[in-house]
Amino acid sequence: MHEDIGKILLTEEEIKARVRELGAQLKQDYAGKEVVVIALLKGAAYFATDLTLAMDMPVKIDFMVASSYGNSTNSCGNVSVKLDVAEELAGRHVILVDDIIDTGLTLEAVCCMLQQHKPASIKTAVMCDKADRRVNGKSADYVGFCIPDEFAVGYGLDYAGNYRNLPYIGVLKPCVYART
Ligand code: 5GP
Ligand code: MG
Ligand code: MG
Repeated sequence: MHEDIGKILLTEEEIKARVRELGAQLKQDYAGKEVVVIALLKGAAYFATDLTLAMDMPVKIDFMVASSYGNSTNSCGNVSVKLDVAEELAGRHVILVDDIIDTGLTLEAVCCMLQQHKPASIKTAVMCDKADRRVNGKSADYVGFCIPDEFAVGYGLDYAGNYRNLPYIGVLKPCVYART
């Protein structure tokens, strides 16, 4: 474990096993369908990679860089897109992947934007769910783990751009925040 990590929430083995389960579930749920998996960069990069590897079926992959301002009631007008999808989504089944669902505003806003492409369906998949923090009552369709309301890093989750490449998910020691 890296010296900046105070506590591990999910081990590498737990993550790997759960992602394999989710991949198998998606393979079953989307059998015979035209699927586009959209990963929200940068956080979802690791989860989306492992999840699609575990799906073991032909899917298209795309990426978005988008973040929500989180201060408007009009969720669709509430998102800034820095990199938009390139794949055709009309009539296809979209799986939107993110690292974590917290307030829920990001996924709500991005789903709203993606609806404008007229996909056949949109579902969401996240590695972590901090359900206690939700402000909009939305939930993700596929959830790796529910975690407590603590700021998590690793497996795509960053603090100030670092720690995404930890193979586990953990919580930083308080002294790390004091340093920056
Ligand atoms: P939401 O819009 O659901 O509040 O936030 C989702 C985004 O907030 C995530 O994609 C992630 O970038 C960031 N976020 C929320 N909780 C955490 C956390 O515990 N750790 C990290 N590193 N990012 C988080
Ligand atoms: Mg994010
Ligand atoms: Mg971040």
